[in-house]
Amino acid sequence: MKLKIAIQKSGRLYEDSIKLLKDCGIDVRNGMNKLKAEAENFPLEVFFLRDDDIPQYVADKVADIGIVGENVLYEKQKAVTVVEKLGFSKCRLAVGVGKDENYTGAQYLQGKTIATSYPVLVRKFLDDNNINAEIHEISGSVEIAPGIGLSDAIVDLVSSGSTLFMNGLKETETILKSEAVLVRNNELSEEKLAILSSLVFRMQAVKKAKNNKYILLNAPNDRLQEIIALLPGMKSPTVLPLAESGWSSVHSVLNENDFWNIIEQLKERGAQGILVIPIEKMIV
Ligand code: ATP
Ligand code: MG
Repeated sequence: MKLKIAIQKSGRLYEDSIKLLKDCGIDVRNGMNKLKAEAENFPLEVFFLRDDDIPQYVADKVADIGIVGENVLYEKQKAVTVVEKLGFSKCRLAVGVGKDENYTGAQYLQGKTIATSYPVLVRKFLDDNNINAEIHEISGSVEIAPGIGLSDAIVDLVSSGSTLFMNGLKETETILKSEAVLVRNNELSEEKLAILSSLVFRMQAVKKAKNNKYILLNAPNDRLQEIIALLPGMKSPTVLPLAESGWSSVHSVLNENDFWNIIEQLKERGAQGILVIPIEKMIV
């Protein structure tokens, strides 16, 4: 029995999807232009597809699970379950208007024409804001639509905003924040759910490890308690005596978000020789 996963064949999701599997200890050999591959060391079969098709394939159980952007998932409206947010391919679906327009809020769009590849999400946004506007669906190069007189505004994916800028547009409202997610078919067998759960266990360990760092430092014994209080660790910090008397070595785990703040406080309290090391996997 193998779990079938659908990932993007090539594009902005591909590299990170393969890397995530690899970080989970799963090697996928993808021969050139192959549609399917088998993992070497985990009961997983991989299908390479266009991202737009992934929700449908998972809903139809051609694939049991899939990795897809929330933007595509919510646009397609297929009945699948989100298992886990994956933290990569972060972007937003945003309204772009001419850079000199006076955009005062969603009501700006009243009576306007909007070009987009996301008609479902845009319609929902307009309805939620009681706006009457015409949607012009196009499948690519949405950002050129205002320039060629096809629309007044656009709704498109943005990450840095440079594409909008190059086309004389500015970003205004965000209508959806998106990242890659793992989705599953709604009715998987017990056996497949068991494989999924061991895959998710690995994914969570990888994700946790990315958000945390291992820290080692030397602390003067007379300030040890203050230093330990700054370092919660997984349970509590490890403290070992140094060969030089009056000093201890303290080992702990720090969350990336608290990192710089805590390092400064540690230094103020006399910590020395601070080493910070990436963690590969973290199981709590
Ligand atoms: P396909 O040929 O598979 O249909 P595509 O051209 O539709 O590919 P890509 O451009 O590869 O899609 O984008 C895939 C997904 O990556 C998007 O649906 C979105 O979730 C995410 N994404 C898109 N643009 C960006 C961006 N600028 N930054 C980060 N992530 C993005
Ligand atoms: Mg696509």
